[in-house]
Amino acid sequence: MLEIKDLHKSYGEKQILKGINCTLDNGVYGLLGPNGAGKSTLMNIITTNLKADSGAVLWNGKNIEDDSDAYRADLGYMPQQQGLYQGFTGMMFLNYIATLKEVTKEDMKKSIEEVVKAVNLQTDIHRKIKTYSGGMKQRLLIASAMIAHPKLILFDEPTAGLDPKERIRVKNMLMQLAKDKIIIVATHIVPDIENIAKEVLVLKDGVLLAEKSPEGLIREYAPSGNLEDVYMKIFADGEQI
Ligand code: ADP
Ligand code: MG
Repeated sequence: MLEIKDLHKSYGEKQILKGINCTLDNGVYGLLGPNGAGKSTLMNIITTNLKADSGAVLWNGKNIEDDSDAYRADLGYMPQQQGLYQGFTGMMFLNYIATLKEVTKEDMKKSIEEVVKAVNLQTDIHRKIKTYSGGMKQRLLIASAMIAHPKLILFDEPTAGLDPKERIRVKNMLMQLAKDKIIIVATHIVPDIENIAKEVLVLKDGVLLAEKSPEGLIREYAPSGNLEDVYMKIFADGEQI
């Protein structure tokens, strides 16, 4: 279980997160909001890459700062921006990530085989990353976030730069992953989380406006519409289109 308690974060005078509270258990959660809402900032705090000004994140009841090694062993993370070494092969990259995650030599081969298979990169894993399509790079990053059976996986804009077909593929992959884990998908693209998110965390200007099932959101914001209409209602109200 992941509990987020009253997180605040500012850069200078600018408040980015204004008191975030939520509790997550197993399943896929969509963290939805437009660019600048604070999604990546929140994810960086949850992954301990960034310190909040105040508030706490608890993983199974323990503050993630108190037992951060054990916490990181449970964690998988696909950052929004990630430079891939173009000269590396996919396999070299996954070996590198597994080493960072302190996967033992004995477990390395099996852990990597599993994730490569899950993202269907078996035939290309020994090719250099510079020969990969956008979708293949994204799948490689997803694989890297899955190494060593994390119980909490965060994906920051996992379909950025993908074509519609690749998007659907990535989405199916996330859905299959969801058993017995918490998955958080940060995105500004509604279809990325439609039909897969158990709950949607709606983030607007650093405030969590709602934590609800997609059906609940539709009922509240757009009774005769869909999740895209909810998004438009919350984020584009009053805008000239
Ligand atoms: P999102 O991921 O939802 O697009 P971010 O968390 O990346 O949002 O950014 C939220 C806000 O915080 C934006 O206004 C952004 O400009 C600002 N911000 C993010 N990182 C920094 C930083 N290191 N210094 C100053 N402002 C930042
Ligand atoms: Mg972001």
